[in-house]
Amino acid sequence: MPIINRIADFHADMTAWRRDIHAHPELGYEEHRTSALVAAKLADWGIAVERGLAGTGVVGTLTGHGGSTRAIGLRADMDALPMPEANAFAHASTNAGAMHACGHDGHTTMLLGAARYLAETRNFDGVVHFIFQPAEEGRGGGRRMIEDGLFERFDCEQVYGMHNWPDLPANQMAVHPGPVMAAADQFTITVSGHGGHAAIPHRSIDPVLVAAHIVTAAQSLVSRGTDPADSAVVSVTWVQAGTTYNVIPDEAKLHGTVRTFTEATRNRIREQLGRLAENIAAGFGATAVLEYRPGYPATVNTEAEARVAAGIAAKVVGEANVTWAPNPSMAAEDFGYLLRERPGAYVWLGHGAHTGPSCRLHNPHYDFNDDILTTGASYWATLVETILPRSA
Ligand SMILES: [Zn+2]
Ligand SMILES: [Zn+2]
Repeated sequence: MPIINRIADFHADMTAWRRDIHAHPELGYEEHRTSALVAAKLADWGIAVERGLAGTGVVGTLTGHGGSTRAIGLRADMDALPMPEANAFAHASTNAGAMHACGHDGHTTMLLGAARYLAETRNFDGVVHFIFQPAEEGRGGGRRMIEDGLFERFDCEQVYGMHNWPDLPANQMAVHPGPVMAAADQFTITVSGHGGHAAIPHRSIDPVLVAAHIVTAAQSLVSRGTDPADSAVVSVTWVQAGTTYNVIPDEAKLHGTVRTFTEATRNRIREQLGRLAENIAAGFGATAVLEYRPGYPATVNTEAEARVAAGIAAKVVGEANVTWAPNPSMAAEDFGYLLRERPGAYVWLGHGAHTGPSCRLHNPHYDFNDDILTTGASYWATLVETILPRSA
């Protein structure tokens, strides 16, 4: 059972929805048009609709044939990025400064396609919650949906997610048995010294020199402090100090990001970064204060559900087109919050380098590849029919 025929029948409809959403991108928590469009389609197909979780979130609930109350959740994200689009095709963004450069227009459409098919056929026994979340791009819409009672109001025994992946050829899939995406935290280290004349440095405590030592030493947190078989990133990305060439400033600030896959590594780097900064500064007679802002947690699949997802992917795209356990990405994803609450799996759907030279996510030349819409929708539908089978 590769692409479901009935889903292939409405490829043209899905392409039209996808391009309509692409032309009207909306930023996190402002997905009013997109959310209304999703809710109207679900209601048209006879799916119960709840709106308002995390503001613009939508949850559709569909019950199959038979009496099972087992429930699973399928999640798509709806938000666009705050960036101008460089494409000039007919469905390019009409909302200046916003663009669907991460393919969430396609994710929303694929879940809608599956919802339409499942509402029509109901060839499953149990309950499906179609979760359309706002604000995946950095603003934690998934976390807010949980805070708004997502799993109390729509209890699921498992939850599944999917992202298009340009590094994989179109219509291939990849499934991880554990970590898929990293935790993404931000930090700011404020180094306080004592400013003065640049030509009389011995009367100052130079925070720029202290900051430079901290930047260098921070590189040891991964190379010397982290198990070589684990992965982590510590990047200082933004250095702020001074105003002119002949003044030693009072203060220097270092900003950056930490990416990790386990809570143990995450906590250790946080603690060591603070200790290193404080003690290096103390050695120079300065002070350093670490402000650490935890962001999205790591997105970690549960192995049993990942194996189920890989089996379903193989049914849809063929065994040879499914990669098991590829390297995870150090980018982040707020589906990690949902996977902290329920077992499940977040899979990558091969997208290919569609439009522009080697086009990647968050690139102004990106466009979702409509050739994979039926693949994604078929994966969702097959997942439901497999996990919630009708008894013979
Ligand atoms: Zn993105
Ligand atoms: Zn994305």
